[in-house]
Amino acid sequence: MFKTIKRIIKWTGEDKKRLYLGFVYSFFLSILTALPVMGAAYVLNLIILDMNGSQQLSMDWVLYILAFLILLVLGRALFSYLRAKSQESIGYEITAKERIEIGNILKKVSLGFFDSNNAGKIASAVTTDFSYVEMYGMKMIDNVVNGYICTLTMILCLAFYNYIIALICLAGVGLSAVFLRLLSNRSNRNAPVHQEAQDSMIAATIEYIRGIPIVKAFKQVGVSREGIEKAYRKSRDINVKIEMDYVPANCLHLFSLKLASVAVVLAAATMAAKGEMAIPNMLMMLIFSFIIFGHVESINNAAHVLEIIDATMDKLEKIKEAEFIDKNGKELTLSSYDIEFKNVSFAYEQKDVIKSLSFKIPEKTTTAIVGPSGSGKTTICSLLARFYDVSKGSISIGGRDIREMSCNSLLRNISMVFQNVYLFHDTVYNNIKFGNPEAGKEEVIEAAKKACCHEFIMKLPERYQTVIGDTGSTLSGGEKQRISIARAILKDASIVILDEATASVDPENEHKIQGAITSLVKGKTMITIAHRLATIENADQILVVDDGEIVQQGSHKELIREGKIYKKFMSIREKAEGWTLA
Ligand code: ADP
Ligand code: MG
Repeated sequence: MFKTIKRIIKWTGEDKKRLYLGFVYSFFLSILTALPVMGAAYVLNLIILDMNGSQQLSMDWVLYILAFLILLVLGRALFSYLRAKSQESIGYEITAKERIEIGNILKKVSLGFFDSNNAGKIASAVTTDFSYVEMYGMKMIDNVVNGYICTLTMILCLAFYNYIIALICLAGVGLSAVFLRLLSNRSNRNAPVHQEAQDSMIAATIEYIRGIPIVKAFKQVGVSREGIEKAYRKSRDINVKIEMDYVPANCLHLFSLKLASVAVVLAAATMAAKGEMAIPNMLMMLIFSFIIFGHVESINNAAHVLEIIDATMDKLEKIKEAEFIDKNGKELTLSSYDIEFKNVSFAYEQKDVIKSLSFKIPEKTTTAIVGPSGSGKTTICSLLARFYDVSKGSISIGGRDIREMSCNSLLRNISMVFQNVYLFHDTVYNNIKFGNPEAGKEEVIEAAKKACCHEFIMKLPERYQTVIGDTGSTLSGGEKQRISIARAILKDASIVILDEATASVDPENEHKIQGAITSLVKGKTMITIAHRLATIENADQILVVDDGEIVQQGSHKELIREGKIYKKFMSIREKAEGWTLA
């Protein structure tokens, strides 16, 4: 519990001062909670003495005290406000800062990070997990630290009047602390399990929403819901089990507090009955003890939430520790764009995919990569864009190893068009402008015209301002593809990578897309993972990849002459243009 509080305090950074100031206010707040009760007891005592006739009551004195009590209550309200003001917003500030940091980290990590961290885990980390820190972090610190400050202050006040009652309260707090420790250990053990269930639930929801079109197409509503329902049920079962796990320790904790309360009532009542304690003092003791035990109960609740926050922070810190791919990269400006792969090997986790690959791509030429599905074509492109770092060998552009460059300066030089286009839930205009955030309106429209998009965009309800639905659902496959090409045209990078850019498009659209591609690659160094015969034939160089190795390399004519795997591919393609080599 205290370890988590220390961690949260560390996260507060510059806000630490405000947090500590809040603790100081808390101390005054607890004194201002105790003093009015003590004052009220004093006045009651005076009234009783007056009624007994043993002491004459001075009304002026009572009025002074009551005025003082009102001042104390107002003072209490003021400190309560000051404490809230100094601490309340800290949770929101630290989480906003951390969320931005995680967002930046996600941009910099290698794609391998996403292979081992599913979308659910990341989504829950930045949303629900953070909201624990955001909404409860400060409140829980408040419950614990301020709770202990108040408890100690109250016990000291009690000791001032009656050390026996103070000792009973102290014993109750001590006993409950033992069970609190037990509770804390259980929370510690359960929190990661709770989070895992939550991650799977969010991952299943994301998967379900993404797959809805396919689910509908195959009318498999019942089948597909199984996964999501299973995840929800599992989360419910785990949460119920966790809650049940807390019951014994929680009951013992509460029992110890109730036991201490009863002991306080009995002791105070006995002393009052024997005349050793005035009735108002007895009432004051009872109020103090109830305040103390109330605080200890809040500390108990806080302990539970703090363990969840601790597991959350573990998870978030793991994300923050992720390997940055360009940690040594410098901002470099390239002046030439010859590409060279030198003995490049690469493995996804344990699976060797690229095996000692060497080839050169001269500047402003077109290289087509062909080969069977799964042979490593996309991986070659991913390595060039440094989505992953090579395991062995090196890749250079213009003579510079790409590991010397920051990802920003590398990717400034590369435009990529994939088979699966991702469009943001934003306007058509912004989706194209994404290629070059500094571009003006005219440049965006110019790029759209070159990519054969302008015509269909003008027919959309809001033209360039039409918001594209999630995953681009309001546009056809070909239209989405052309928008992604317009984006690349606007970027105007010197190296263009086309990964099966036209593979899933119908012939009529393919013609238009081909036109768009022609505008895109003019004067550029192009790597295309092609499935169209014409593209392959016209390439300056063709690399035939099989099982992560280059098995043939040369121009179309040379390779046809060589025969082997390339000729086999080509004859299949000739027979069935439209069938993809990829
Ligand atoms: P191609 O583009 O030629 O179809 P890829 O480069 O996509 O082939 O994939 C090459 C091999 O690497 C395949 O066996 C594929 O299953 C595997 N692979 C691709 N991406 C990943 C990944 N993120 N994690 C693990 N294996 C992968
Ligand atoms: Mg591929």
